Amino acid sequence: MKVNFDDLKGKKVLVTGATRGIGREIVRSLATQGAHVVFNYREGKESVAKEIETELKELGATDATGLMFDVTNYEQIKSAIDTFTKDVGSIEGLVNNAGISKDQIVLRLKEEDIQQTLDTNLKGSIMVAQACSRGFLRAENVSVVNISSVVGLMGNASQIAYSASKAGMLGFTKSFAKELAGKNVRCNAICPGFITTDMTDALDDKVKETYLTQIPLKRLGDAQEVANLTSFLLSNASAYITGEVIKIDGGLYI
Ligand code: NDP
Repeated sequence: MKVNFDDLKGKKVLVTGATRGIGREIVRSLATQGAHVVFNYREGKESVAKEIETELKELGATDATGLMFDVTNYEQIKSAIDTFTKDVGSIEGLVNNAGISKDQIVLRLKEEDIQQTLDTNLKGSIMVAQACSRGFLRAENVSVVNISSVVGLMGNASQIAYSASKAGMLGFTKSFAKELAGKNVRCNAICPGFITTDMTDALDDKVKETYLTQIPLKRLGDAQEVANLTSFLLSNASAYITGEVIKIDGGLYI
């Protein structure tokens, strides 16, 4: 089932990590609702970005703009967002979705993996929001959606750095919501459970089977379902919700 929120039409929404998986489904959903979809891509992926722009326009996006930046590179983020704001206008919605997981038991965890996980998932999200913030203050009805994870709430063996980064995003969400509420900027977090994407395809079949036994709804989630919830939080349909953390996990963490 696909949602359609009229007020997203023409809204300039930046989604990070939209080249694949959940982010790709979020930008497709926003395009069908007529948003001006803005997404990032990493250096060297210009042809993928062009393909995405074309697809999103065909789906109905008011416009589609790829911005070249890595979420761990503040100079790239700032330069891309400042240029877009100057040429087109303020970003009015942000989805911090780009993320990585490098699962490993604590004894084998490498310092560089901890660093990369925190830099991408946590620091990256804060830096992108920070770079958009001046524009947020000039825009109306801004909504930020941070894609955290259910393991940020419940923890998970072999995901120490990942869970910590996702739990950190919840503190960021609540603080950002408090700081900017007076400027009509909302900020909420989504905690997906087990969603079928490249990230979860990489998991061992045994791990997936174990998860399935623990999910009351007895199935993995679909990226479209996360996209629907994201659209709701971006739209004014959720105008009185801020600083909230919403699980979408088939009941995994009840
Ligand atoms: P994927 O691995 O399928 O896609 C990750 C996306 O993030 C890609 O577009 C990737 O770009 C981008 N990305 C990663 N690192 C960077 C970086 N340094 N700079 C810019 N972009 C980057 O992940 P999912 O779609 O599965 O996950 C999306 C989000 O949802 C993540 O934050 C994840 O933690 C979260 N999540 C996912 C769950 C799941 O079950 N799938 C469950 C809970 C949370 P590129 O193509 O260039 O690599």
